Amino acid sequence: MNTLLRCLLLAGVAFGAQANSKAPITIAIHGGAGTITRANLGPEQEKAYHAKLQQALDAGYAVLDKGGPALEAVQAAIKVMEDSPLFNAGLGAVYTWDGEHELDASIMDGKTLNAGAVAGVKTVKHPIEAAYRVMTQSPHVMLSGQGADDFAKEQGLALVDNHYFDTEFRKKALDKAKEQIKLSGYQARNYLAGDYKYGTVGAVALDADGNLAAATSTGGMTAKRYGRIGDSPVIGAGTYAENGVCAVSATGHGEYFIRLNIAADICARVRYQGKDVKTAADEVIHGRLQQLGGTGGVIVLGADGSITQPFNTEGMYRGYRNSAGSKTLIYGNP
Ligand code: ASP
Repeated sequence: MNTLLRCLLLAGVAFGAQANSKAPITIAIHGGAGTITRANLGPEQEKAYHAKLQQALDAGYAVLDKGGPALEAVQAAIKVMEDSPLFNAGLGAVYTWDGEHELDASIMDGKTLNAGAVAGVKTVKHPIEAAYRVMTQSPHVMLSGQGADDFAKEQGLALVDNHYFDTEFRKKALDKAKEQIKLSGYQARNYLAGDYKYGTVGAVALDADGNLAAATSTGGMTAKRYGRIGDSPVIGAGTYAENGVCAVSATGHGEYFIRLNIAADICARVRYQGKDVKTAADEVIHGRLQQLGGTGGVIVLGADGSITQPFNTEGMYRGYRNSAGSKTLIYGNP
């Protein structure tokens, strides 16, 4: 975050304390990290991504701006990206080995530490809504497979045929992944270290009442088999939020994010070591994740509205909006 923005936010917090006014409403989002370079994206695609990221930010910010809850803001932003074929979430999700789509999503409420998640759903149009319903309408935290689809149906959520999620671009990625798997073998841990998984979406928000929320939605990894589940629906790995501490949504090679408990680790550094969100997130992404050989990034929002979005890939679709303004970014070197 630049110094001016930081000063404005700090000034806002200080003023807020005196006038007993509201927290600095903020939303930050990501649309996946990977080998995203100017050369392989092109100006038209670049424009399309910026526009869709902005639309998602605006949808989330509109909720916060009228005094709505962070939990609602993150869902509003994510639904815009789930509806766009540009991202690996909802429409445009990657294909499994069997040529289907299995979607994962999770959400966490920083105020209550309640959380909800679905894994491997095949018919839910907006998996993030299903995760929210698990949190609010069931005694559980995570539902998976057919049961999760049944639950979404019972809840009256919008359902679609699995082919609704199809896109030509992702089908080509599946064919390419299968070729690669033939050469390196499915068991090779890093067989998909390339760009077969990127495009997961996530959002973190701080509302006027000081509540933090985080949410993540994904199609997972191209050519995944055997009911593979990544980090995105795993609370603590892909998603975490706690009021007064931080909110995190992750994207990247899920197996590493699960093993490193990435989202919770970042918040633990803030909570127990008193670190600012940038230091905590840098230590985890450029330290722990990097050392283990994992790739990806996170968006992190502090209780004071401070934002950091580190990643160790060439690019990460990302953006933020607060009272000082709005920005969308793609490359490591903007
Ligand atoms: N983290 C997701 C997964 O491993 C993929 C991604 O973020 O691109 O399922």
